[in-house]
Amino acid sequence: MASAAVAFSIVLPAHNEVGNIAPIVAELRRLMAAIGPTEIIGVDDGSNDGTLDALRAAASADPMVRYISFTRNFGHEAAMRAGLRAARGQVVVVMDADFEHPPELVPQLVARWREGFKVVAAQRLDDDAVSPFKRVTSRLYYRLLGALGDVQMEPGSADFLLLDRTVVDTINGFEDQELFLRGLVRWLGFPVAKVSYRPGRRRHGVSKYSVSRMVELALDGIAAHSVRPLRAAIWLALAFAALGMLFVVYSIVSFLFVQHTVAGWTSIMAAIAVLGAAQLFVLGIIGEYVGRILRETRRRPSYVVAETEAERPAVAAHVERVAGPAR
Ligand code: UDP
Ligand code: MG
Repeated sequence: MASAAVAFSIVLPAHNEVGNIAPIVAELRRLMAAIGPTEIIGVDDGSNDGTLDALRAAASADPMVRYISFTRNFGHEAAMRAGLRAARGQVVVVMDADFEHPPELVPQLVARWREGFKVVAAQRLDDDAVSPFKRVTSRLYYRLLGALGDVQMEPGSADFLLLDRTVVDTINGFEDQELFLRGLVRWLGFPVAKVSYRPGRRRHGVSKYSVSRMVELALDGIAAHSVRPLRAAIWLALAFAALGMLFVVYSIVSFLFVQHTVAGWTSIMAAIAVLGAAQLFVLGIIGEYVGRILRETRRRPSYVVAETEAERPAVAAHVERVAGPAR
């Protein structure tokens, strides 16, 4: 198929989604037939369940399917970035490969693009299908991010986005190691059209976002878009310095006039504990940013590609023959 004619690229980050690949490709092919020439790009993010085999099979059966396979798991953000870079379409849609982002919504996103919007964001309607825990934490988080950072995001924001070519080219020119795509897209400042959806149910496999990974993504989102926590650390330090001064005055006064200073053990312990905690907290904030500076200045790529539909390394085939298919 003439790739120059591709109008729509659909990027599917996939980490252990073997059961979902064939169904979602079939579904998208059916939906996009009426819309325009499309390519589907599966990004295998270090799966160990045969996702890569499913993508290979889909790509050899259908030239509209392409794939990129990482050497190991580099994370959802890296997978989206690789997909954005590989995409050739005039329009790029990024969505989960597990049917939680309903494929039927893609034509609606495209309709908003045809109205002239360069960014269309699908907005999850948080109803009973979403766990109360996720609902509450996500709402609190976007409020916190809005208060701290320079991006305003609505609750229910997801990595289900349509981006025009101009936007994709802009993002591809960015060198940030950690993208936090859903924040970056809003930071760019293009008007964002919204289409809301009820999340579908994951058809196969399990969620890879554990609570700790969600916390990590949340911290990345804040640190990527705000340096205010560093300033908060300074305010906290000033507040404790003021309290400390009061305490000094109190001890001097009691030493001079009350003379029972030996009884001060409790208050000393309390002061040590509180100040120790405050110092650890501030150090943690600073450490978070220092770590980011280190990661950004190393300028390593965010991912390493092992294989694409255009380049299947001979060595992979060789290893398979010698050692049997990879698990
Ligand atoms: N994903 C990925 N790399 C990862 C984790 C997840 O590419 O390290 C993909 C995953 O295959 C899915 C999407 O990102 O298509 C969202 O992940 P998941 O469904 O596990 O998260 P949840 O929807 O539960 O938040
Ligand atoms: Mg999911």
